[in-house]
Amino acid sequence: MKKCDVGVIGATGMVGQRFITLLENHPWFNIKVLAASSRSAGKSYAEALNGRWCMDSALSDDIANMHIYDAVADMETIAKQVNFVFCAVDMPKDEIKKLEEAYAKLECPVISNNSANRGTPDVPMIIPEINPQHAKVIEQQRKRLGTKRGFIAVKSNCSLQSYVPAMHPLMQKYEIESALACTYQAISGAGKTFERWPEMVDNVIPFIGGEEEKSENEPLKIWGRLTENGIENAKSPVITSQCLRVAASNGHMAAVFIKFKGDKPTKDEILSLWKNYSGVPQKLGLPSAPKQFLHYFEEENRPQTRLDRDNEHGMAVNIGRLREDRIFDYKFVCLSHNTLRGAASGAVLLAELLYAEGYMD
Ligand code: NAP
Repeated sequence: MKKCDVGVIGATGMVGQRFITLLENHPWFNIKVLAASSRSAGKSYAEALNGRWCMDSALSDDIANMHIYDAVADMETIAKQVNFVFCAVDMPKDEIKKLEEAYAKLECPVISNNSANRGTPDVPMIIPEINPQHAKVIEQQRKRLGTKRGFIAVKSNCSLQSYVPAMHPLMQKYEIESALACTYQAISGAGKTFERWPEMVDNVIPFIGGEEEKSENEPLKIWGRLTENGIENAKSPVITSQCLRVAASNGHMAAVFIKFKGDKPTKDEILSLWKNYSGVPQKLGLPSAPKQFLHYFEEENRPQTRLDRDNEHGMAVNIGRLREDRIFDYKFVCLSHNTLRGAASGAVLLAELLYAEGYMD
């Protein structure tokens, strides 16, 4: 099978570096182009990084020597060389929106980690195990953009990628009226390491700009329905959240409380719904799909960030401590790897899904 050539826009950043480690030996995708800001353009990847490589695996010589393009000024040159691009950049939202649309209009599909287009009704925001059917909205988006091939598809915020997967299987049979999710989020979610953010050592900061709004609202688009005017957000469950930054390098934990409307499942039924849930990525055997999407831990002190975040290459969602609650019906904790499931690997899985379904042809 001939590999598909891809570009990474924002290649020098935290998520961009993850993309490189994931794509270097990918069975379907081949890294053809790397791009970042004008500050990095024209340099080799190693020069542009200037010591910022923060992945555990070593940077290969082939990648270190690759030329860095300017994501904006060299857009046409980039689009001509690749089948699609992954995009994870730190820029103002309006500029990201323009950038992503411009690539799409050059007939280059964009798989995005950025939040700029998450609210656009004809841009699908997909967790491949949960709402793969939203890909159909791409046809509406292509009409709006006037493209044959180009489109934008996004992944959701990293904070909700633990509790939305845990709630979804229960919602296939029961109605969840409301949920409370308190998240304990790792510093890599801010593109940082402890070396670059020493204030975070031995610390908790009770504020992450914009994160609570995303954690409360984005799930409603994921559970939304396809209409002639794009995806219409679901009205429920109502979610309230508090998002805290904690002194962990990787892995977002969430303490979750849920209340059902009408019938509610027993604890054993919830465990069985989690155990038996699998989605399209598992059915299609996509290369980055975890074998078991949801892992439940019986031990009362699991899942733990350091022990469990890398479960199934950081693509599993880990759950534990399910018990009844005196205000809500049930409470539990969940954990997912924020730069793998929550960012780069989640985007690679989304690209695999769209590639397998013919959207990148
Ligand atoms: P980051 O480490 O700060 O990296 C930012 C990247 O954007 C760098 O490659 C930078 O290039 C590039 N960039 C900045 N200004 C640019 C410009 N004007 N034109 C082109 N490229 C530009 O950020 P990150 O943590 O990887 O996050 C990137 C995106 O992913 C953000 O939208 C973030 O919200 C999202 N995200 C992050 C996570 C996470 O866990 N970190 C999770 C989900 C989503 P230079 O090196 O040349 O400056």
